[in-house]
Amino acid sequence: MESTLRRTWAEIDLDALENNYHRLKERIGDNVKFLGVVKADAYGHGSVICSRKLEQLGADYLAVSSIDEAIELRVNKIQMPILILGHTPKEQVARLIEFDITQAVTCWAKAVEFNEEAQKCGKKLRVHIKLDTGMSRLGFLCANENFESGVEGITKTCQLPGLEAEGIFTHFAVSDEPGEECAEYTRNQFELFNRVIHAVEEKWGRKFSLRHCANTGAVACYPKEYYMDMVRPGLLLYGYGEFAEELGLQPVMSLKTNISTIKIYPAGTAISYGGIFKTEKTTRIGVVPYGYADGFFRSLSNKCSLVTKEGKAKQRGKICMDMCMIDITDMPSVDVGSEVEIFGKQNSINELAELAGTIPYELTCAVSKRVPRFYQEKEEIIEKELLLRW
Ligand SMILES: *Cc1c(COP(=O)(O)O)cnc(C)c1O
Repeated sequence: MESTLRRTWAEIDLDALENNYHRLKERIGDNVKFLGVVKADAYGHGSVICSRKLEQLGADYLAVSSIDEAIELRVNKIQMPILILGHTPKEQVARLIEFDITQAVTCWAKAVEFNEEAQKCGKKLRVHIKLDTGMSRLGFLCANENFESGVEGITKTCQLPGLEAEGIFTHFAVSDEPGEECAEYTRNQFELFNRVIHAVEEKWGRKFSLRHCANTGAVACYPKEYYMDMVRPGLLLYGYGEFAEELGLQPVMSLKTNISTIKIYPAGTAISYGGIFKTEKTTRIGVVPYGYADGFFRSLSNKCSLVTKEGKAKQRGKICMDMCMIDITDMPSVDVGSEVEIFGKQNSINELAELAGTIPYELTCAVSKRVPRFYQEKEEIIEKELLLRW
C-alpha cells in the first residue's frame, strides 16, 4: 500500500477552487484585483498548493498572517506578491526585503522601526498601511477625535524614505452579519476609510495604487464600490459560509475517514468514555479513526452525524483523541473499510459548525497536521502530503 496513513484524509478539490476563483472574478469585474487570503495554511487547505493554483489562475496577490507563512510560499517558488497582515519583528525586515514580501504597517511606532531597518539594508520595504476604522484590532486609529492624528501619522509613514507605501487597507468587523445596524456600522467604516485616504493623498501628494477592504462579507453583501482596487476574500474562496451557494461556489475540502472496526452490542451497553450514550437496542457500531487530535470538536460528542454511503450515521458517545464511534445499525452495506464523510459535499460544514457553536473557518483550520491532504484536479490526485515514508 502506498500510504497506510489513508485512515482519515482531506480531499482538496482544486477544480472547486478554480470554479470559486472564476465565479468571484466574474462578480468583481476585470478592473478589480484579486487577493487570495491563504493565512493559516490556507484555512487548513494547504497554502503552498492553493497558492500555486491561484498563481496559475492569475490572481494578483496573496495574504498570510506571518513571515514564516510568507517564506514558506517563497521557498516553494510562489512568485506573486504576498502581503503579511500581522506583525513582523523588526529583526526580520531584512528578510522581508530579501524575499520581496509586502508588510502591513499598523502604527507610527512600527513605521519608524521598519523604516530604520530598511534603511540599514539600503533598500525600501514595500508596505500597505492598515487602518482601524472600527474593527478595534490592528491599524492606525482614525475614528472621531483620532482623525487628524491618524491622517498625520499615515502621511508621515508614506513619506519615510525606507518605505514604499503601495497600498492602504482596513478590515470590516460585521460585514457578514445581518441587520441594518451592522450594515450601518460597515457603511461607517467604509466612509471613514475613504475620508482618511482622501485626506492622506491630498497631504502626501500621491495616490495609493492598492486600496482594499472587501473581505467575504463585503464581497457577498455590499455594492461594487466596496471592491475598490482589490478584494480580499478568504472563506468564499474555499466555498463555505451562508453566501457561498448562491454565488455558485463549491466547498474545496472534503474530510473523509473510513470504518476500521465494527461491533454489535446488546441493548444497555455504554459507548466510549463517560458512558454518555447507552444503546437502546441491539446496535451496530463502527469505529472511525477521527478524533479531537485530528481536529474533531469534542463538544460535538453525541450530537452530530457523519455521512456513509447509506446516509447520515449518528455519532455516539464521547469523541476520543484518535477515534469516535458511529451508529450503523440500519446500514447493512456499510462495512469495515467503507468511506465516511465528516464534512464536504454531502455533509455541510456550515451545519456542523453551527452544531458546534462555531463558524466553518474554525473547523477547516482545526484539521490537524496528522491528516494528509490529497489534492485533486480533474478527478485525479495530483499531489499528496504526509505519506508514510518509513
Ligand atoms: C482573514 C482576513 C481576511 C479574509 O476574511 P474572510 O472572512 O475569510 O473573507 C481579509 N482581511 C484580513 C485583514 C483578514 O485578517
